[in-house]
Amino acid sequence: MDKLAIVVPCYNEEEVLKLASEALREVLDQLVQKNKISPDSFILFVNDGSKDNTWKLIEEEHGAHPGQVCGIKLAGNVGHQFALTAGLITAKDRSDVTISIDADLQDDVSVIEEMVDKYHEGNDIVYGVRRERKTDTFFKRTTAQAFYRMMGIMGVKTVYNHADFRLMSGRAVEEFSKYKETNLFLRGLMPLLGYRTDCVYYDRRERAAGESKYPLKKMLALAFNGISSFSVKPISLILGMGLFIIFVSLLALVYALISYFTGHVVPGWTSLILSIWLLGGLQLLAIGMVGQYIGKVYIEVKQRPRYNIETVLECEHGAGEVKLSEMENREE
Ligand code: UDP
Ligand code: MG
Repeated sequence: MDKLAIVVPCYNEEEVLKLASEALREVLDQLVQKNKISPDSFILFVNDGSKDNTWKLIEEEHGAHPGQVCGIKLAGNVGHQFALTAGLITAKDRSDVTISIDADLQDDVSVIEEMVDKYHEGNDIVYGVRRERKTDTFFKRTTAQAFYRMMGIMGVKTVYNHADFRLMSGRAVEEFSKYKETNLFLRGLMPLLGYRTDCVYYDRRERAAGESKYPLKKMLALAFNGISSFSVKPISLILGMGLFIIFVSLLALVYALISYFTGHVVPGWTSLILSIWLLGGLQLLAIGMVGQYIGKVYIEVKQRPRYNIETVLECEHGAGEVKLSEMENREE
């Protein structure tokens, strides 16, 4: 039976830690009872350099439930995406399948069972997707939706309304660990792995306790990181703009010449206005061209895996011959 690891990144989560541990242990117990996961499945808390009592509470939980609760303590605060990665990679060698979930219990733990079922049906990644965003503030809801739309326009594949509540099979985490990039945006990476995926839907609740660890500044940073780590389209936009302005300078040329010959111009205006448009366009074009190369360098530098082989059907040399000789033997 498969051993499940639930990975929970925690930053200053002393108010919810016990609640989270309790809720998740209950889920584990139920799944073990239903024979869906092995009894040595566990919860892995990742302390992301918390400044409060979070680590002490994790130690206490581990002491009280050593078979079910483990923890790792990062040396400093590295942010949600890295903390989660640290947890997933640590869990990889100790389990067969992982689920990542936030500590604040906003994601519905009761769909974990459905995730595990979908995993048993042969999915390597199961995304938890929010059905509605009723509990989010109007601001958070609209900015988040604008963000997903923006990502789509920039050509980055993401799952709409999916945050980092997700099941990943052991081999998906293994493949993910080959992505060495530091500008990490997990939600954008998962579709690149190429495995069979599915979604489960749930209503996102209010935070169980404490307040959001994602202030606007961090949210904007995540959004910008998401786009700039996956798309070089903004560079192509500069190039396109350069071409457009050169085209406009042609129109300006016609307009300036007409004005010149109809005699309604101040001396010097014609050459000046033409130079401004043409030079502006040429400069943007040049920046865009240089940018194209920088974009290529950027993509190369990431050294992402170029493919992911899912299955190999190996030729067994000699297998056919064995069968033939067996038949001969039988005839004799
Ligand atoms: N988190 C973290 N490191 C950070 C910030 C947040 O590990 O620097 C964790 C946090 O403890 C929580 C998860 O990331 O488990 C999501 O954060 P939060 O719930 O505050 O974000 P929101 O749901 O408000 O977007
Ligand atoms: Mg939250």
